[in-house]
Amino acid sequence: MQQQHQDIFDIESPLNSKILLTRTVLRTCSRSSVVDENSSKDRVVDHLWLARTVLRTCSRSSVVDENSSKDRVVDHLWLARTVLRTCMTKQYFAIRKTWIDAQDYCESWGGGLATVSSPSENEYMMDLTDRTQPVWIGGTDGSIEGHWTWYNATNPENMITKFYWGGVQPNDYNNQDCLAYYKLSVGYSWADEDYKTVDINIKIVTDEISRVFIMESEAKLIGLKNALIELEYEFQRDENHVQRWFSSIDEEMRRLNNEYANAEWDFETNMSNKTETEHVQMSIKASRSMKEIAFKAREKQKLHYLRKDTRRRLRLLSQFSDPTDKNVLELLLQFSDPTDKNVLEQLTRTRSELENIYAVGTLQKDGKVYNMEPELTKLMQEERDPDVLNWAWKGWRNETGKKMKSLYAEMVKLLNLGAEENEYSDFGDAWRKSQFDDTPELLQMCETLWKEVSHLYKKLHAFVRMRLKDYYSKHFPSYKFPTDGTIPAHLLGNMWAQEWQGVYEIVKPFPDVSETDVTKEMSKQNYDVHKLFTMAEEILHVSWFGSNDKNLLEKVTTDFFTDEPDEQNDDFRIKMCTVVDSTYFETIHHEMGHIQYFMEYRNQPVVFRDGANQAFHEAIGDTISLSVNSNKHLKAVGLIPEDHTNNLEEEIKRDLNMLMKQALFKIAFLPYGYLIDLWRFRVFDGTIPEGDYNKEWWKLRLEYQGLSSPVVRTSEDFDPGAKFHIPSNSPYICYFVSFIVQFQFYESLCKASGHTGPLHTCDYYRSKGAGDKLRSFLQLGHSKPWREAMKVLTGTMDIKTDAITEYFSPLTEWLDKELQEKSQTVGWEGAKINFE
Ligand SMILES: [Zn+2]
Repeated sequence: MQQQHQDIFDIESPLNSKILLTRTVLRTCSRSSVVDENSSKDRVVDHLWLARTVLRTCSRSSVVDENSSKDRVVDHLWLARTVLRTCMTKQYFAIRKTWIDAQDYCESWGGGLATVSSPSENEYMMDLTDRTQPVWIGGTDGSIEGHWTWYNATNPENMITKFYWGGVQPNDYNNQDCLAYYKLSVGYSWADEDYKTVDINIKIVTDEISRVFIMESEAKLIGLKNALIELEYEFQRDENHVQRWFSSIDEEMRRLNNEYANAEWDFETNMSNKTETEHVQMSIKASRSMKEIAFKAREKQKLHYLRKDTRRRLRLLSQFSDPTDKNVLELLLQFSDPTDKNVLEQLTRTRSELENIYAVGTLQKDGKVYNMEPELTKLMQEERDPDVLNWAWKGWRNETGKKMKSLYAEMVKLLNLGAEENEYSDFGDAWRKSQFDDTPELLQMCETLWKEVSHLYKKLHAFVRMRLKDYYSKHFPSYKFPTDGTIPAHLLGNMWAQEWQGVYEIVKPFPDVSETDVTKEMSKQNYDVHKLFTMAEEILHVSWFGSNDKNLLEKVTTDFFTDEPDEQNDDFRIKMCTVVDSTYFETIHHEMGHIQYFMEYRNQPVVFRDGANQAFHEAIGDTISLSVNSNKHLKAVGLIPEDHTNNLEEEIKRDLNMLMKQALFKIAFLPYGYLIDLWRFRVFDGTIPEGDYNKEWWKLRLEYQGLSSPVVRTSEDFDPGAKFHIPSNSPYICYFVSFIVQFQFYESLCKASGHTGPLHTCDYYRSKGAGDKLRSFLQLGHSKPWREAMKVLTGTMDIKTDAITEYFSPLTEWLDKELQEKSQTVGWEGAKINFE
């Protein structure tokens, strides 16, 4: 809680503004001392103007300072303010005016009617006042009778709390509402007077600035100067100390990162006992160092005088920023008491058991082995027979999820232990904070985003349901398609029904429109993997960012691509299995988007070498892919032929087909991307007890996705576990956010490239404007809160759904028409989960 409090309220270290103020005070006051009886009127006005500015600033500062009244700094500022107020308001002309006119007149001189805040100030005022008639000062009870304030009553700070009335005053005689000095036989006292009364003398002095007063002020200023020197010293001591520490650890982190990445690369590209051991040892070494650094960062957070950025950087360092960026939870537990060493071991064991169950999950049929990759993925995509699909769907869940249930519950318990020991309410809380720094409202934000896009999903759902129903009644007449509005989860071309491109051929709006098969075109043109990478590189690195580095791509081997210069800071690599086809063409752009992000923030301190948040890192590559996938781009790179027929109708149909294909990926994914962590956060915070894991899972699958299970599910099953990210405990909600924000990024880059026309036709290939815009965003890395980074790219600090809605609008319009013509009901109201 402590930390969160600071996030919201710390903001600029108050000291910064204090020093700034003190400096202004000093400057102004020393100038005031050059104003003397020989000064011209202009000079005096100038002085008053300055004094007023300072006064305003100082009185604002007093709001901040009230919290720390014992602070020496505040005392000095209070002093300065008093000095200045005295300097400014106690010098008056003798002139006849009503209270209001007198106030206006003083304001025109940069001041106001005098105020009185202490007995000594009252004495000082009485000394100045030498009239027999009343002399105005700034108090009034014009707003509420008997409720005296300085000037206007709207500011509660202006309440008068100390009075120096004389005799029967105040008597409110004939509604007297204004404050004045009234002459007594000896000295003066306060009295109320009628502000409508005219011709009352007011003493206003401009050219009689008291020499004594100046001398007093100067004496006070010397004290103020000394205090300032002390303060600046104190401030710089803390700040310098932390900055020096930053440089020293940054060097260390850079080295660790590099060593770790090398060990990981060696292991991933050449798995042997030796490389594995080295990888594990390096990982332990890196974790240990990071743990020490995080401990120190926590200590340094206690220092008083730090800049806002410095404080943020300390906070990030203290939040277990593991260089491997994956093992947040191990680090969490390493922070705990040594007695919890068992917990860590138990957790490591539980996790690897879970991951292992998933990794070895296979099915067998007719002597053939089906692994998830590639056999089951392919089967789910291409097979249409509902019985075969059901066999794979159910079998996979029996072989994975079902075996994990109690282990998963165990892991949840252990993770929560670690989180609680580190002052998080549960592990989900820790997770949200590490992925979406500065976003306590993450869940509300996602729910709002979902509500805004759910209509897109529901229309797509209704259309796909209609086409599938037709397809199955025609080709598998004995199959009973559900009548409750849901779609069976095994018919959508994907093991988890998370994206539906597998059924594109069944649901494509215009089956008769000729489409170029990009994959075939690639092989016809003799594309190889190197060529695909070069194309991605050309978009990002060369044409946008103007790099002359022609030898960026060093080698592509049969198994992996690598990009491997020598310098620690300039060594970026990708390991991926790639074949030449249109899907990998997209994936390569996605991965190269990551690489470009790495490259752009490489000069940031290590702790800031990260995406503004996880979702943004994922979104960059996809933002590029959206452009690359446009028919316009494919034409530009010669992968689909220019349409010389100029057949507009065909063109529109082709675009709708393209949009459908995109929607089956980008829109179909949204509810799934959201509900995984929705379920998981509820599991972590205990809202969903172990006995209800599967039931609640299916409730969400029904509520958000409108899916039904092909066979009855029970509490014995554990279907969430059939998805990799659950046993491996990898975050997911970032993908949901990424799938929305990438359209917003895409739209901004389209604007920057000068694109006109429908959004889905935009390709910012080779646009310098788009490149510059993206680059200024990428270079920030994690050095600023994500909303600030986002503003650089999109001009707004909020994630919005306008762009995704706009992008798909031609398709949505078409769907609306189709659904209406075919009298289709959108949604699945009243449907129940198939659960026992
Ligand atoms: Zn990615």
